[in-house]
Order: sequence, then structure tokens, then C-alpha cells
Amino acid sequence: MGAPVISLTDIPEPAEIRDLATERGILVLAHSYQDGFIQDSAHFVGDSLELAREAAKSDAEAICFCGVHFMAETAALLCPQAEVFVPDLNAGCSLADSCEAEELAKYQDYLQSKLGKRPQTVAYINCTAAVKALSDIICTSGNAKAVVESIPEDDPILFVPDRHLGGWLNETTGRNMELWNGSCMVHELFSVDTLCDLQMANPGSVTISHPECPKPVRDASDYVLGTAGMLRLAQENSATTFLVGTEGNMLYRLEQVAPQNTYISAPGASCACNLCPHMQLNTSAKLWEALETRGPRVVVPMEIAHPARRALDRMLEVA
Ligand code: SF4
Repeated sequence: MGAPVISLTDIPEPAEIRDLATERGILVLAHSYQDGFIQDSAHFVGDSLELAREAAKSDAEAICFCGVHFMAETAALLCPQAEVFVPDLNAGCSLADSCEAEELAKYQDYLQSKLGKRPQTVAYINCTAAVKALSDIICTSGNAKAVVESIPEDDPILFVPDRHLGGWLNETTGRNMELWNGSCMVHELFSVDTLCDLQMANPGSVTISHPECPKPVRDASDYVLGTAGMLRLAQENSATTFLVGTEGNMLYRLEQVAPQNTYISAPGASCACNLCPHMQLNTSAKLWEALETRGPRVVVPMEIAHPARRALDRMLEVA
């Protein structure tokens, strides 16, 4: 017998969902790339760093993590007493998939023999727990510069898995890190040609792009910022129109914190929506079902959890 089908009319309003989760001792965390319904149902909405901090300080007995799998793993690492579950276990990430732990271990050995010294591995948080366990320190887009600058200048660095964020860090810190050849399928598709057209059609606008975007898009932007930085800028900058080069649901968050402005999603080369297909697997119906069943669970094996947690703790000390 299959799982009962939940009709959309059975699903309560977001505020009711949140109250019910509170009654049941469940903390609902949502990434800024989730749709508006899920964001409104959460106790806390944020970027990877903010969500990691929220999980680390939480004493909740259960966390429903609305994001993708590696984010729920991070919550499980930082809040080990909590049962962590997700609306959809298949919500993965093309960037995390681009770096497998076995391949990374081989490359670390290769670089050690080539350089005569083992490089420090800095891993962007968008990677699996197994990759975090092989890394010296983790970073997010919001703290990546501070993390890289915390490493002694003489130490070689391998940066994984995003080559665009790594390239941007090399430009802004003056380091010459070895870069893993991974990328995000959403940010990879932003097109500088269509962005320039949009800028010409919107004189006086300010362009903000995420460091996961390719270099030509970053170079054509006024600011390169993580999502928390984008939210701050939208509240503080005097411009009233912003062209936004990141996942499309970020516009909902921007409209919540600074509704006085107009936000226009920067177009991709072949698609105008720029929504992450992995994030979109989480729906209101699946969220509701997950809160009812407290599943599916995300569990990190013990042998991975300890070294991965150490690398995350190092990041939180720097951040
Ligand atoms: S937007 Fe990109 S990096 Fe973020 S979850 Fe989707 S595929 Fe992964």
C-alpha cells in the first residue's frame, strides 16, 4: 500500500504549521532558496552560516530541515542530540555531487607528493559530510574570505568544491589556492550577455551576484555577496532597483526585509527562473507530512561525524 496522498486543502497555513511544530518540540529551519510558503512556515530562515549557527545553539529534540541533504547533515553534526529529518530525502545538490570523498582523498595525496607538503583543505559548506571529514576547515559564502585569511600565508590550500567561489577568493585574498573543478548548476547558468541587457533596460539599478556565479557575471556586478550580505545591502543601499544574480526564491526574502525596493532576477542563458530543482523538491505537502511522521531521517555515521564536526567547529571559531 502506498503512502496516503495529502490534498493541498489538508495543509494548514504557514503560521499554524509553525505553531504545531513548536508544540511538538520540532525546530523548523529553512534555507533562503525555499519557496515563500516554506519560508513562512519556518522558525528561522537563513543562509548556510546562519542555519549552521542556529542548529549549533539549539537544544531542540527534533529539527525539520527545509533545504538540501548536505545542509541537513550539517544540522545533524552541529546538533547531535536532535533527530534531524527533511521533507524530501532526494533533495541533493549538483555542487556537493561534484566532489566525492574518495576522489578528494586521492587528490589530496597527489598534491602532497607534488608540493612536498599536505595542503590545508578548505571546503565550502556545500559538500557532503564525508568531504567535510577530509577537510581542515569549512566556510560559507558569508565567511569564506575570513576563513581563507585565517590560514598562514605559507600554507598551500586546496579549495573544494566550487571553482567559481574559489576563483573569487583567489582574486579577493591574493592567494593562489588549488581549485576543485565543481560548480552549482543554477549559478553556472547565469549569462553575462543577458545581464548586460537587463542593466541597460534598468538604468540606476544595482547588480548583486553570488560568488558561485562565473567570473564574467561577477565582473559585471556592482557587488558580489553571499545571501546574508545581499539582505544587508538591500536595506542599506540608496538604490531602489536591484538585479539579483542568485537562486530565484531569494527574491521573496529580499521582498520581506526591504519591501520598498524592486528586485529583478538576473536571467540565465536558457531559462528565466533560476530556481534550484533540488530545493524545489521540498513542497508544502512534504513538509506537512514530514512533521507528522518525523521523517525521513538524516543520520551521519559516527566515523565521519567526528572529523566533520571538528572542521565545522574550526569555521565557527573563525566566523
Ligand atoms: S542552488 Fe546550487 S549549490 Fe544550492 S543546493 Fe541548488 S545546486 Fe546546490
